[in-house]
Amino acid sequence: MSATILVVEDEPQVQELVAVNLEHAGHRVRRAASAEEAEAAIRDELPDVVILDWMLPGESGVALARRLRAQERTQGLPILMLTARAMEHDKISGLEAGADDYLTKPFSPKELAARIKAVLRRRAPQLADDAVEIGGLRLDPAGRRVTAGGKVVELGPTEFRLLHFLMTHPDRIYSRPQLLDHVWGDHVFIEERTVDVHIRRLRKALEPTGHDALVDTVRGSGYGLRKP
Ligand code: CA
Repeated sequence: MSATILVVEDEPQVQELVAVNLEHAGHRVRRAASAEEAEAAIRDELPDVVILDWMLPGESGVALARRLRAQERTQGLPILMLTARAMEHDKISGLEAGADDYLTKPFSPKELAARIKAVLRRRAPQLADDAVEIGGLRLDPAGRRVTAGGKVVELGPTEFRLLHFLMTHPDRIYSRPQLLDHVWGDHVFIEERTVDVHIRRLRKALEPTGHDALVDTVRGSGYGLRKP
């Protein structure tokens, strides 16, 4: 399970410790030392998870979490809050601001890894290694293998990620910018037409077994995958 994780922490040693541990676990890490830097990084590329320190210079992590929850693009972004505080009322206000989970400093690398895994499993199932199956279409992330009615389907890496995202978020329509954010990580510098191209390739690969019918197009809105 590999994710893009934004670490927002102003203390250099803590930032380094967290980043190195996450990289060691196979994740891609981006770093920010303030709420402002974090927002710029998120504008550039939507991460899969944000690790957010409570006490930051300038705007606090809690205020940033609240703002991320209020914006459409970031409202589903998993947030793991870091803090030196262990007071119960602080924990509650962190969770009320929209954090998914909470980690009190000092914490062990093992604890951090376990929490990240739990948050990803809950909020970003497309990053987990669990196999998914819908209507005879089966995708196995660990083996990087797709089968339709038992037959192997050859997919390019982008179609594979696109199908994985759609299969783990069925019965919902995603707009092109949303798909660019979730599958490509970038909704600014990649043309929306790119999504259409890869959907077309995906459909073509699923055509022989009729599984292309699972892919849903809503004209002018976007794409999804429908459970039969
Ligand atoms: Ca801090």
